[in-house]
Amino acid sequence: MRHARLVPAVASLLIVLASAEMAAAQDLPRVRLVATGGTISNHAGGRLTADDLLGLIPDARRVARPEAEQFSNVSSSELTLAQWLALSRRLNELFATQHDLGGIVVTSGTDTLEELAYFLHLTVRDARPVVVVGSMRNPSSVGYEGAANLLEAFRVAASPDARGQGVLVVLNDEINSAREVTKTDALRLQTFQSRTAGVLGVVDPDRVVFYRGVVKRHTARSEFDVSQMAALPRVDVLLVYQDAPGDLIKAAVDLGARGLVVATAGAGATSGTQSDGLAYALRKGVTVVATTRTGSGRIPGTRRFGGALIGGEDLAPVKARVLLMLALATTKNPADIQRMFLEY
Ligand code: ASP
Repeated sequence: MRHARLVPAVASLLIVLASAEMAAAQDLPRVRLVATGGTISNHAGGRLTADDLLGLIPDARRVARPEAEQFSNVSSSELTLAQWLALSRRLNELFATQHDLGGIVVTSGTDTLEELAYFLHLTVRDARPVVVVGSMRNPSSVGYEGAANLLEAFRVAASPDARGQGVLVVLNDEINSAREVTKTDALRLQTFQSRTAGVLGVVDPDRVVFYRGVVKRHTARSEFDVSQMAALPRVDVLLVYQDAPGDLIKAAVDLGARGLVVATAGAGATSGTQSDGLAYALRKGVTVVATTRTGSGRIPGTRRFGGALIGGEDLAPVKARVLLMLALATTKNPADIQRMFLEY
């Protein structure tokens, strides 16, 4: 008799507990994986799909309601600028149409990940987190760290503290800003570093921790609208090295470059006949941005070679190229372009 009374009580308690758990699961943010390829999915027997990747991280369900879509499945360096534009438009569309979407995780090959991440940082106009993630070891290798990185990316994308921080790059337990991070080693797992800026935060076993914010303009505060951009203008990067010739610069201009980024030696030095090439470029109305090949340090704007040289500030040459493409798609005014290099 006593026993019989207990059964319905226990059953209703279980129902209450189960529905509490379900309610909690429903309260978790929706986080969508948009997979583009890279080593993280490059399995020897065939590339892993977005759904395969999600299957590797059942624990993502503890922090988010995960879902997935396939954008492409190629190496990062194989992606075209047209695909970059399409990807950015897709992320903007997801945020614009899905108000209950909490954040997005993008997988990418690591080789040019920093370029894609900075492009998204400048063109996805929403404060919700976008986390770019990859891996150095492929899924067929012992010590594949892709699943761990992916789970960490979901944890960051689901974290309320990641909101408004711009596009984040998560690998190897560290959170870096898309603006600052660079691949510093061809093979090591700790390859992604922000050099002088340092990490934004860490992904520890117990929680995601941010130590600082991003001051420069990005995402929700960006002026770059790719919704109507048919293509990005040609911008080439030219390296300064001993006795480097100016004819390569002239060739880039004659082949249609609308902008040039010069990775100068030290704090602005050029070599060989490069000054002739740069004077030619400026005469032809090509926008020239000076950066440094050293890996860190800032280059201010100046007047040289008979024209205005835009200062690339502390941006790495490949990132200055990303900003210059977007700047030139928007304006030709050198003062405005210099302002953009100061603000972004
Ligand atoms: N080749 C690869 C890529 O960038 C390397 C990687 O994913 O780490 O797609």
